[in-house]
Amino acid sequence: MSDQNPVFIPGPTNIPDRLRLAMQVQTRDHRAPDFVETFAPVLEDTKRVFGTTSGRVITFPSSGTGGWEAAISNTLSAGDTVLVARYGMFSHRWIDMCQRHGLDVQIIECDWGAGAPAARFAEALNADKAHKIKAVLVTHNETATGVVSDIGAVRRALDGAGHPALLMVDCVSSLASMPFELDAWGVDIAVAGSQKGFMLATGMAILGVSEKALDHMESAKLPRTFFDFRDMLAANAKGGFPYTPPLQLIYGMRESLKMLFEEGLDNVYARHTRLAGGVRAAVNAWGMGLVAQSPELYSDTVSAIYVPKGFDSNALTEHAFSAYGLSFGVGLGQMNGCAFRIGHLGMLTDVMVLSGLAGIEMAMADLDYPVTLGAGVAAAQRHFRVTRTAALKSAA
Ligand SMILES: *Cc1c(COP(=O)(O)O)cnc(C)c1O
Repeated sequence: MSDQNPVFIPGPTNIPDRLRLAMQVQTRDHRAPDFVETFAPVLEDTKRVFGTTSGRVITFPSSGTGGWEAAISNTLSAGDTVLVARYGMFSHRWIDMCQRHGLDVQIIECDWGAGAPAARFAEALNADKAHKIKAVLVTHNETATGVVSDIGAVRRALDGAGHPALLMVDCVSSLASMPFELDAWGVDIAVAGSQKGFMLATGMAILGVSEKALDHMESAKLPRTFFDFRDMLAANAKGGFPYTPPLQLIYGMRESLKMLFEEGLDNVYARHTRLAGGVRAAVNAWGMGLVAQSPELYSDTVSAIYVPKGFDSNALTEHAFSAYGLSFGVGLGQMNGCAFRIGHLGMLTDVMVLSGLAGIEMAMADLDYPVTLGAGVAAAQRHFRVTRTAALKSAA
């Protein structure tokens, strides 16, 4: 184990020193008047990252999973129908949560490696003349398969059918790393967390919520207490929290937003595109394939990579950890044993990504993978040199 190497798991992500220090604050009184001055601007500035001016930002002390629960329990009632596609572990878990809440879950089964099936959503929505479907749930970036989906296309499916269902999106592993447009895509609730694109410790669910979603909170009958939007909004309106806020994370969030805006959100997204391109160049040089089925589905924050037939991806990630102190993501669900994942989101730089690629190549060579030592690293180096030149030119 090394506490010097960056992690290459797709969350929680590496925490920049600047943010670790920002979270190092002594207890302060959250009922004191100056808490408002800290907290209110954080909520306001987070709207920019969600791409909303008309929506609200609501946070809870929780991991992302709690954000899913807040989304459904504040807007839906037992027996309501929700439409969801299953194409990976995270969409699967949200489905499971809906079922356990007594919702009637209409599932569209997709291959793992596919994205949100806008055309099949359109078909289901067009067929639902009685508007029984109350919400469509979509995982923007399926972290298990490294697939990003076109949320705008799902919005067009809803609009094309003239369907009033809410659109809820899990953007836990995409927000603050890839473009997100809550207003433009007509997203009603977007769920994120503190420990991925925001580069903070785990512990805050961060939601972007439309006015339309808020209109449902009085009629929604699913039980909730801790996650009740009404309590949170009432307390936030007075600058406070209905219970003890995760103060250190709020200070961290304030600094994280500063870092993101200093780099510039567009530059943050471009950096993730470049890092992902380098990883994909390496995968190609290794002669391996991505789980994501086609280029428009390739995620800029995580790549799920099939190992060659006859090899066990768990043996690879275990060896990388024990021999080199490097952490990569294991294959989740049906990908377990046949694919591993490289997380390339958060604070990473080209050079850090090269170190991860070099390390996993050593582990592959140790386990007699049919790869040439250095081939993946060289391919990524070429990609970074070329795109870096382009980035510098466009900045000049
Ligand atoms: C990380 C992640 C979550 C949330 O997981 P938590 O461990 O509860 O924070 C949800 N969805 C996706 C797509 C994720 O990557």
